[in-house]
Amino acid sequence: MILKSIKGTKDLLPLESSRWQHVEQVVRGVFHRYNYKEIRTPMFELTQLFSRSIGELTDIVGKEMYTFTDRSGDSITLRPEGTASVIRSYIQNNLGEAQPLVKVYYMGPMFRQERPQAGRLRQFHQFGAEAIGSPTPETDVEIIAMAAEIYRRFGLTNVALKINSVGDEECRPLYKDVLRTELLKIADKLSMDSQKRIGQNPMRVLDSKDAQDMFLTAGMPRITDHLNEACSVHFERVKELLTLMGIPYTVDPRLVRGLDYYTKTAFELTSDELGSQSALAGGGRYDLLTKELGGKQTPAVGFAAGMERLMMVLEKNNLTAPALRPTLFIAAADDAARSWSITTTMELRSRGTSVETDFLNRSLKAQMREADRQLARHVVVVGAHELASGKATLKNLDDHTTRDVDLSLLAESVMD
Ligand code: AMP
Repeated sequence: MILKSIKGTKDLLPLESSRWQHVEQVVRGVFHRYNYKEIRTPMFELTQLFSRSIGELTDIVGKEMYTFTDRSGDSITLRPEGTASVIRSYIQNNLGEAQPLVKVYYMGPMFRQERPQAGRLRQFHQFGAEAIGSPTPETDVEIIAMAAEIYRRFGLTNVALKINSVGDEECRPLYKDVLRTELLKIADKLSMDSQKRIGQNPMRVLDSKDAQDMFLTAGMPRITDHLNEACSVHFERVKELLTLMGIPYTVDPRLVRGLDYYTKTAFELTSDELGSQSALAGGGRYDLLTKELGGKQTPAVGFAAGMERLMMVLEKNNLTAPALRPTLFIAAADDAARSWSITTTMELRSRGTSVETDFLNRSLKAQMREADRQLARHVVVVGAHELASGKATLKNLDDHTTRDVDLSLLAESVMD
């Protein structure tokens, strides 16, 4: 029996991985320009970390986590998202002691047992950033601007920014009561999922993708009409700054985000080219999480973005990076040139040029086909005659021009 990969997981094949590397490099470049530094946390943590931070009532904790008991009896979970681990690490390593504002980013696989479909996997990849230690709306806007800039960097112009405020521990419970009262009046017409949510988490009903739910809740009270003074001032400043920076947005009072730890600003970047899974990235402020996880109360804001979804929109727009290509292919015309080809290939590689040659003792014709298949930029054919004269013909496979070169100056000759 041939074993296959697990449903909802994907191999990143060689052609794709070079595209991913290019994209990751561009993303890192943006993070670095905003002075965010990378943090790498483990891919598994104690289950408690996620159940306490993300919240027992969320889909992630309720039904999607990969949780198992290890040999010492501990309950372990493969990380379903990045923020909880980053905050755990921030507290454990006293990162806040050295500086008041800690700016970090991460990149890597996340694990959720969701129903696989286009744009939704069980092992997927996220990049994201967290700014820990600042309560200011300016920091929210830095995070939003940075996330938006990543998509702009790639030339994607069809990315929409939606923002909302989800209130804080003072005004949100009051709003939830108002909303719950209204929802109870129409409870029997809502989907089963939404009916279950009314009691504990009525804001999630607004998040429902069920058409009937959306229709019925369209006129429900909006959180933006129930914010207290502090949340309202904060939200106004976020909007003012986005406008000043020329970042277009719409306010979406239904944007509540799935996780319990958000406060004040919530935002999402979407693309209408992604079908039903339209969210490219989401984030917001989470001033209550650090305390929830046993640290000092520390205001923070961040976002997470899906790598697969970014790759999907790049492909749709023909914006993926070209594959990696060898700069030179050395073809051996006869046996006399084989040793020279191999040693020269190795030498040029160690001097920094990307070179390929024949390792399968193929005919010259087959070697030329291989140079094409590898998308080599140049090819040089070397045989006894070239070795004797020290000169050969270098062909540029992109524009099909040829020129005579000194074999001792091959590296210089193929420099772009
Ligand atoms: P979340 O942590 O759920 O807010 O997700 C942040 C981003 O990660 C989303 O906007 C998606 O782009 C991506 N994402 C979340 N879940 C998945 C999944 N199961 N498969 C692929 N991408 C995902």
